[in-house]
Amino acid sequence: MHSISGRKRLLSSLAVGAMLALIAIGFSGCAKETEETRLRPALESIAAADLASDTQILASDEFEGRGLASEGEIKTINFLRDEFQKIGLEPGNGQSYFQEIPMVVNSVDPAARLEVKGGKKSLSFAYKEEFVARTLRVMEESTVTDSELVFVGYGIVAPEYNWNDYQDLDVRGKTVVVLVNDPGFATQDPALFSGRTMTYYGRWTYKYEEAARQGAAAVFIVHETEPAAYPWAVVKNSWTGPQFNLVSEDNNMSRCSAEGWVSLEAAGQIFESAGLGYDEIKVAASKMGFKAVPLGLRASLTLKNEIKKVTSSNVIARLPGSQRPDEYVIYMAHWDHFGKNPALDGDQIFNGAVDNATGTAALIELAEAFKRLKHSPDRSIVFLAVTGEEQGLIGSGYYAAHPVFPAAKTAAVINMDALNVSGPMKDITVVGYGLSELDNYIEAAAKEAGRTVNPDPTPEKGSYFRSDHFPFAKQGVPAVYPSGGIDSIEHGREWTLARVEKYLVERYHKPSDEFDPGWDLSGAIDDLRLLFKVGYRLAMDTAFPNWKEGTPYKAKRDADLAAVSR
Ligand SMILES: [Zn+2]
Repeated sequence: MHSISGRKRLLSSLAVGAMLALIAIGFSGCAKETEETRLRPALESIAAADLASDTQILASDEFEGRGLASEGEIKTINFLRDEFQKIGLEPGNGQSYFQEIPMVVNSVDPAARLEVKGGKKSLSFAYKEEFVARTLRVMEESTVTDSELVFVGYGIVAPEYNWNDYQDLDVRGKTVVVLVNDPGFATQDPALFSGRTMTYYGRWTYKYEEAARQGAAAVFIVHETEPAAYPWAVVKNSWTGPQFNLVSEDNNMSRCSAEGWVSLEAAGQIFESAGLGYDEIKVAASKMGFKAVPLGLRASLTLKNEIKKVTSSNVIARLPGSQRPDEYVIYMAHWDHFGKNPALDGDQIFNGAVDNATGTAALIELAEAFKRLKHSPDRSIVFLAVTGEEQGLIGSGYYAAHPVFPAAKTAAVINMDALNVSGPMKDITVVGYGLSELDNYIEAAAKEAGRTVNPDPTPEKGSYFRSDHFPFAKQGVPAVYPSGGIDSIEHGREWTLARVEKYLVERYHKPSDEFDPGWDLSGAIDDLRLLFKVGYRLAMDTAFPNWKEGTPYKAKRDADLAAVSR
């Protein structure tokens, strides 16, 4: 609602633009419509004032930090529905703009202790300071008693890398201890896994999934700051307090009884108690042919688990394609943030202005731009605002597992998370660059804008697995996350990197991530115009982009595309 004045201003500037365009056509004496003239009104409608005003609304205290299953969620998803409706988009999920997602909220009693016995001395670790744990099982109490501890190295089963940490091992009922990241990172050996670039086998989510497949009772990851890419404080804060999770049909009973982390200090004590040196065993674990080591210790843990069932929603809107409406290009952004925390002194609202009111506002901006086209693109354009990203890619994970539009008919997913607020850039960073044929579309649009494309500058942090495009990749749908640039036209690279670092330290995931009228959104507008072209061209194409050879996502895409063409 508040954004109307911005759009009025925009309309008048558009009128001038349209007049100029007419004059240009008149002078050239050629009425033939090029892509450039066709897209101009749409591209010009993407404006900083609109983006700012929608971001400001979404990041206002009134929206309460857009927490899941809160008043803030209701305001947010209704705002998005109303905006999409006003723009003239159709509901994306049958008659509804919402895709409802059943979730549980688990809160573990912080009095829990992890006891480890049978070694040189009995150990007892404190929840939060020395270990964290959760159970995804929908149970009020989850217990592990005298479960044998086994060190399984990186806990990886990767046939394509000829690696199996669970080889000839039966861990049913046992508690596995695993290292974070993968042997490639540990050794920096480009011949092992992807070298310094983290593979999915390095992510904590994978470690838990694999331990559950192996039938382990419990799984603990040893925390180390560098390979995890964040300090213990992040583990401590994000793993304690209420945790939102999806519920599977079996009430998550196929998961381990307990999934958690131990601090490096606690792990040191555990290995010492087993008579082993952590540093030596870590080196052994990163060598081909490593064999798991029973620690001769027993672990016990009881998690008292308060469970609440709630519902949260993805918001989905669709602009039907004019030629092939049953084929799709998806723009996505997560609408959620951390809500509010009444236990805090001072500001209690996590406004999440950059993360990700900007990306959510961008969906509205792009939707408006597509509506300005005289003819809708051949394929349908989907605007998907997902929930629960901050809680572990819940909304995108649910959509990818319960797709409203079939994966095989989805040409691509373009994810936006935290837009650039630091002005125009010479470059654009694309997380996922080099993995799929979407590169070609992005490179072309970047070139036209006189910009270069960067791959993820810190692939060892596993960013590709940490935002909403990843559940789509797992389902074979080519997905990228373009995330602004790092080389400011005006101030250069050092300045930009310092700005990014300052944001990460001072505002990221804190109540201070607030809307700032001093932002320079012109760089974000450049990015959105570029992404508009990418999406438009994908929607005018007949090809279904695929993953590049050697990526783990290609097999699923190949199978999907083959099934459709039969
Ligand atoms: Zn985000």
